[in-house]
Amino acid sequence: MKKLIPSIVLVLFALLFISCTHKESQINFVYPDGNMKALIMSYDDGLVEDSKLIKLFDANNIIGTFNLNSGLLSTQQHWPQDNGPDIISTYVSKDSLLLIYKSHEIAAHGLTHQDFKNISDDEMLKEVNTDISNLNELTNRKIVSMAYPFGNSNHHIAELISNSGLTNARTVSDTYTFDLPDTFLLWHPTCHDSKAMEFVNDYLNLNSNELSLFYVWGHSWEFNDPNRWTSINEFCQKIGNQKDIWYVGCGDYIEYQIALNNLIITDDTIANPKDNKEVWYKEGDETKVIKPGQTIRAKINALP
Ligand SMILES: [Zn+2]
Repeated sequence: MKKLIPSIVLVLFALLFISCTHKESQINFVYPDGNMKALIMSYDDGLVEDSKLIKLFDANNIIGTFNLNSGLLSTQQHWPQDNGPDIISTYVSKDSLLLIYKSHEIAAHGLTHQDFKNISDDEMLKEVNTDISNLNELTNRKIVSMAYPFGNSNHHIAELISNSGLTNARTVSDTYTFDLPDTFLLWHPTCHDSKAMEFVNDYLNLNSNELSLFYVWGHSWEFNDPNRWTSINEFCQKIGNQKDIWYVGCGDYIEYQIALNNLIITDDTIANPKDNKEVWYKEGDETKVIKPGQTIRAKINALP
């Protein structure tokens, strides 16, 4: 018995040593390729000026989300103004969508750009669902993103459109932050592009351990003003082609967030379901991937 006690103590010490050396690694989830930052550029209405903006985006490796009114495509509209001549808008043609928006996301913006707060629920749902099905038919792409016409929405509208297949919808209530949103169907962006230059250096210099997002919105037709065109050029040249920013459309951004949410997390393991997308994490300075169907032993520093 006397000999047994020291042996038990020895075994306990050994077990303690093994458990310490086999401690789960501490990890942080990150965006694809290990990025902590992301940029979304969301542009409304689908006017012919989109083509020039897309050339600027392409030159700087920036991805845009373009929100289109399918009922106005291939038309020219005259918008009467109180103090001056009509504004004439030329919409891109229906048969050129896949050509113009080849590397960019096509998203909904209401069939005919009605203010959702001024029409009935049925009319609103028709504006949304017909726009989605038209765009889907014209492009053969799944349409999952929308910008509210005039940015107008509320919780009631967001609830009503939640069965339309959309994963996200943008308002124009600027937050002036790089925070991730609370709800994706009332997604408040960082700022309009006329303010983007005020934030660009802060974002480039940001060095945070948390995921962030710079979400800019606007209209390509506003760049008919030469000063505004100069400004967006400068912005894209500064923020584009960075090694630590994920350039992404709204739909792909949400798809990644959904993949993070689908992980099955216990105290010491993280399992990626078979039908999920791959997710990225950092262990120390190393960027790693959890493939679909894979389980790793790890503890999370901060939940996504
Ligand atoms: Zn609009």
